[in-house]
Amino acid sequence: MTYNVDLEVCAVLFLVLLCVISQTRKKLEGYQSMVFQIYLYLVLASNVLDIVATSCLPYYDTLPAWINWGINAIFLTVQMSLPVIFVMYIYRKLPKTTGLERKMISLCCIPSAVGQILCLTSPLHHLIFYFDGSGYHHGPMHIYLYTNVAFYMIVSLYLAIRWRKQLGWREFPLLFTMIGIPALAVIVQFAMPQVMLAGVGSALSVYIMYFMVESNVSLLDPITGALNRKAMTDAVERDLKAGKLEDIYAVAPDNFKLINEMYGLEGGNEILSELAKAMMKAFGDKKVFRFGGDTFAILAEKGNTDTLDRLRDLIGRIYHIGDAEVRVTACVGLVHASNHPVEELVSAIEYAVAEAKARGKGQFFEVEETAAEEMVRKKAIEQTMMQNIREGHFEVHYQLIYDIRRKGFYSMEALARLNVPNYGYVSPEEFIKIAEKNGSITQLGMLVLEECCRFIRESDLHARGIDFIEVNLSMVQCMQPEIHKDVLRIMQKYQVPTHMINFEVTESVAASSEELLIRNMERFTEQRIHLSLDDYGSGYSNINYLVDLPFSIVKIDKYVVWAAMKNETSRIILGNTIRTFKNIGLRVVAEGVEDQEMADMIADMGADYIQGFFYSRPVPKEKILERLKEEKGSDAEEEEN
Ligand code: C2E
Ligand code: CA
Ligand code: CA
Repeated sequence: MTYNVDLEVCAVLFLVLLCVISQTRKKLEGYQSMVFQIYLYLVLASNVLDIVATSCLPYYDTLPAWINWGINAIFLTVQMSLPVIFVMYIYRKLPKTTGLERKMISLCCIPSAVGQILCLTSPLHHLIFYFDGSGYHHGPMHIYLYTNVAFYMIVSLYLAIRWRKQLGWREFPLLFTMIGIPALAVIVQFAMPQVMLAGVGSALSVYIMYFMVESNVSLLDPITGALNRKAMTDAVERDLKAGKLEDIYAVAPDNFKLINEMYGLEGGNEILSELAKAMMKAFGDKKVFRFGGDTFAILAEKGNTDTLDRLRDLIGRIYHIGDAEVRVTACVGLVHASNHPVEELVSAIEYAVAEAKARGKGQFFEVEETAAEEMVRKKAIEQTMMQNIREGHFEVHYQLIYDIRRKGFYSMEALARLNVPNYGYVSPEEFIKIAEKNGSITQLGMLVLEECCRFIRESDLHARGIDFIEVNLSMVQCMQPEIHKDVLRIMQKYQVPTHMINFEVTESVAASSEELLIRNMERFTEQRIHLSLDDYGSGYSNINYLVDLPFSIVKIDKYVVWAAMKNETSRIILGNTIRTFKNIGLRVVAEGVEDQEMADMIADMGADYIQGFFYSRPVPKEKILERLKEEKGSDAEEEEN
C-alpha cells in the first residue's frame, strides 16, 4: 500500500502557524487553556511523527529495526492520548456537570491508557502493529485504535448534546463540528487506510477550539488593550474556583467627564489607555480589566498585600494627552470576593466605585461584609418593585385624615406598599429612593394614581364623605414636562373629577423653586387639582416658595409635631406657624399624631386636620371602607340621640 502524506504536511504547517499565533497573542490563564495548549502540541507532535513514520515505511528494510518499531510505537501512543484530552477539553468547557458525569469522565481515561500501553508494547506482543519480511502490518487488535476514537467521540457528543441549551446556539454548533470533523476523518481513514486524514481532522478541531474560546479577540477592550468585562467574569469565576482570588480593586479616574470635555473623547481614551498600560505593567496584563465606562478592575490573589500602595503610586502620576500633561487621580473601591456570591460581585464593584466617588476625589471605599447583605436586600427590593411595575400593579394603603371641625374623616393619603419575598413589607422611604434612582418612579407614581382613581370610582368615596385623596409626587415627577397630561388621561379614564385628587409635594422639592416645577404646579391648579405642601418644617428655613407655588394645604411634619409635645419653645413656634398659615389662607394638617394629648394640643393650636396613628393607620382599601361605614353608623346614632 502507498501512503500519501501531503495532507498531513499541510496540517503540520497550519499547526505551526497556530502555535505562533497563540504564542504571540495574550494567552488566557486557566485549566481549559492549558488543556488546549497540551492538545495543540500533541496534535502537532502526532502529525510530525505520522509523517516521519509513514515516510520511513518504504525503507523499512534499510532502516535499523529499533527505528521502525520505535517511531510507530511512539506515534500511535501519542495519537492514542489525543481523544481523551479532547474529551477533557469539552468537559472543562461545559457549565456544570453532575457528580456521576464527573466520575464517568475519570473512568474514561481507562480505554485511552490501555490503548497507550498496547501501542507502546506492541513491539513485544505484535497486537497493534508489527514488522516482518514484507514490511509494516496491522496486528489483530489494530481495530482497537478505531473503537477507542469512536468511544471518545460518542462521549463528547453525549456531553455536547446534553448541555446544548447551556452552551447556547452560538457555541453548540461549533462544538458539534469540532467533534464531528475529526470523527468523520477517522471514519474515512478507517474505510480508506491509504488516505491520511486523521491528522487533518485533529488539526481542524484544534483550529475550531482556538477560534471558539482561546482566541481572545472578543475578550480585549479595543480602546485600552486591557481585557474586557466578559474576560473579567470568566477570570473571576476561574480564580474563585481555584481558591486564588482574594480581592477586587475597582479604579476610576476622578472627573473623567471633565477630562473628556477638555480634551475630547480621544483625549479621554488616551488617558484611559495610558492608565491601563501602567496598571498592566504593575500587576500583569491578565489581572487588569476594563470593567466598563471609566472603571478598571484589578484582581488580587491571596497574599497580595501591597496592591493598594502600588495603585496609589500609579494614580498620582502625570499622564500625557498629546503634548498636554495631566495629573490623573482616581477613586478606588475594594471588594472582598469571599463576602459576595459570584453573581453579586459585579454589583459589589459598582457599589464600591459609586461609594468611593460619592466621598470625593481620590477617595477609597471598602465594601464591608454587612454591606453585602444590604446589597442583596436592595437588589431583592428593586427586583420586586420592577416586577410590580412591569405587571402594571402597585399595592396602595390609605391613611384617613381627620377633620377637627366636622369631627370626621374628610380625606386620606395614598401610601405605596411593597411586599418583598423573604423580607416582608419594606418602607416606601427605602423603595421610593430606589425608584427615583433607577428612573421608574414616574411609572410607579402613575400606578399609585391609577389605583386611587379606581378606588374613588369603584367605591364612590365622595358619597362616603371623602373630599379627595392625597397622592405623593416625587421630585422627578414634578419635573416631567408632560406630567399634567398623563395625570389627566388617567383621571379621565376612570371618570374621576379632578378635585378628587390632591398632590403632595415635599418641602425639599418646593424649596428648589425650579421654573418647570412652578409651571407644572400651576397647570394642576388650573385643572382644579389642589396641592399640599408635605413635610413642612423638615429643614428649609426659607419659605419664599410659598409666594410662587399655589398650595392650598400645608402638612406639618411629624417631627415638628413631636418636638412641640416635648418642648415649650417648639410648642410656641408651632402654634405661631399654624396661625401664620391660617392667616395667609392655607389649611393646616398636623402629621404623626399618636395619642389624645397630641390631638388636643393640635386642636388647641387651631389646625384644621389631623393625620396620625391615633385616628387611623395606613390600611388596605377594604379596611378603609369598613371604617368609613362604622363612622357613618355612629354619626347616624349620634343624630338619633
Ligand atoms: P409621608 O408622605 O410623610 O407619609 C406619611 C408617613 O408617615 C407614612 O409613612 C405614614 O405611615 C407615617 N405616619 C402617619 N401617621 C403616623 C404616626 O402617627 N406616627 C408615625 N410614626 N408615623 C406616621 P410611610 O407609609 O412609611 O411612607 C413614608 C414616605 O414614603 C412618605 O412620607 C412618602 O414620602 C413616601 N411615599 C409613600 N408612598 C409614596 C408614593 O406613592 N409616591 C411617592 N413619591 N412617595 C411615597
Ligand atoms: Ca405625603
Ligand atoms: Ca409627610
